[in-house]
Amino acid sequence: MDQQTKKIGFISLGCPKALVDSERILSILRAEGYGSTENYSEAEVVVVNTCGFIDSARDESLSTIGEALAENGKVIVTGCLGAEKQTILAQHPKVLAVTGPHQYDAVIDAIHAAVPPPHNPFMDLLPPAGIRLTPAHYAYLKISEGCNNRCSFCIIPNLRGRLASRPIDDVLREAEALVNSGVRELLVISQDTSAYGVDLRYQPYEFGGRQIRTHVTQLAEALGEFGVWVRMHYVYPYPHVDELIPLMADGCILPYLDIPFQHASPSVLKAMRRPASDAKTLERIHQWRKDVPDIALRSSFIVGFPGESEQDFDYLLQWLKEAQLDRVGCFRYEAVRGAASNELGDHVPAEVVDERWNRLMETQRDISAARLAQRIGNKIDVIVDTVREDVVVGRSTGDAPEIDGSVYLPVDAILTPGDIVRAEVEHADEYDLWADPLTESEQ
Ligand code: SF4
Repeated sequence: MDQQTKKIGFISLGCPKALVDSERILSILRAEGYGSTENYSEAEVVVVNTCGFIDSARDESLSTIGEALAENGKVIVTGCLGAEKQTILAQHPKVLAVTGPHQYDAVIDAIHAAVPPPHNPFMDLLPPAGIRLTPAHYAYLKISEGCNNRCSFCIIPNLRGRLASRPIDDVLREAEALVNSGVRELLVISQDTSAYGVDLRYQPYEFGGRQIRTHVTQLAEALGEFGVWVRMHYVYPYPHVDELIPLMADGCILPYLDIPFQHASPSVLKAMRRPASDAKTLERIHQWRKDVPDIALRSSFIVGFPGESEQDFDYLLQWLKEAQLDRVGCFRYEAVRGAASNELGDHVPAEVVDERWNRLMETQRDISAARLAQRIGNKIDVIVDTVREDVVVGRSTGDAPEIDGSVYLPVDAILTPGDIVRAEVEHADEYDLWADPLTESEQ
């Protein structure tokens, strides 16, 4: 990139879905001949992709905008908090433009207005798989925007709109380009992966010489054919999710399900207005484990939801002990501005919320330690993430990047990020494993 290249500063806050938005915007900019920089002083303008999900994320977004204004002076805001233009302008009247989530054209227009695009029609600076902010060997694949559910604690449908699925041929073309660029693991994300295609009435599209329906099962099958790891996130337990289990048993997709249950008590789930929260979930979990013994189940929970009684919380703890989930994230209930749950009575005092959070984490720590200990002596596949001087850090099929555990391997001169090795588990703690790579004859 030469000295004359116009550079755009880019700050990406929030979840993997926002990260994918950032990657798309950066890809368009690179195709147009712009460069990017992490240095405020080198940037001609700074784009802040904000998160507005909970108050702490809003505060972080607003203070990042303030910092970018102070350091650079020219700032464009996009992302979830961008849906609240007045809030941003009230605090930072000098921002040049505010656009909402996944409004790619509007962000690009604002950048063009601030920094006219470089003119070089022969420039071809864009890698075929676009610009990515993740390491080269894994990539998030966003299959839809928005959500048709109305969980009472969540304002995402207000911020990101109703479900809008990408046609399946479009998703598969992107996946193919990613795999061709060296990606070894695809992480399927959306707000509600199980609902994929509902808005398109599961319309079929042509890909690879055949018609494929825009449906989560057909998507998983087709992604599995690329021969890389395919990991499904944000899968609500609608009945048709059971169709994914045979694909895991066959090795087509990873034996991994990220299902955000959020609670177990029927009355709390009802107040949360959670989709697909029927009483048979435990039975289904047991059946999934029977069909795919090495399936890893991840979920997230909220404690201290308005009206959550001590009985509700005990019910949740008992449910967790029964479900034996592998990975659990737990959030303290936070009143999000604009969420319907704020209107509910019986808000739980902060110290009680803290105490329940600690109890849940302790319970899950014991479950996790016991489950990982059972894996000692097992042979597992490990994808290498980083090679440090003292240790190689990877993940098993049961570990997603950033949110789950790690597998530590001894230093090995041959291994590089993205390699997948067979290893035997030697040791485990509450969250991580230590393993030794196997020679070909030991596998
Ligand atoms: S499923 Fe519920 S929590 Fe998830 S984005 Fe939709 S409304 Fe929000």
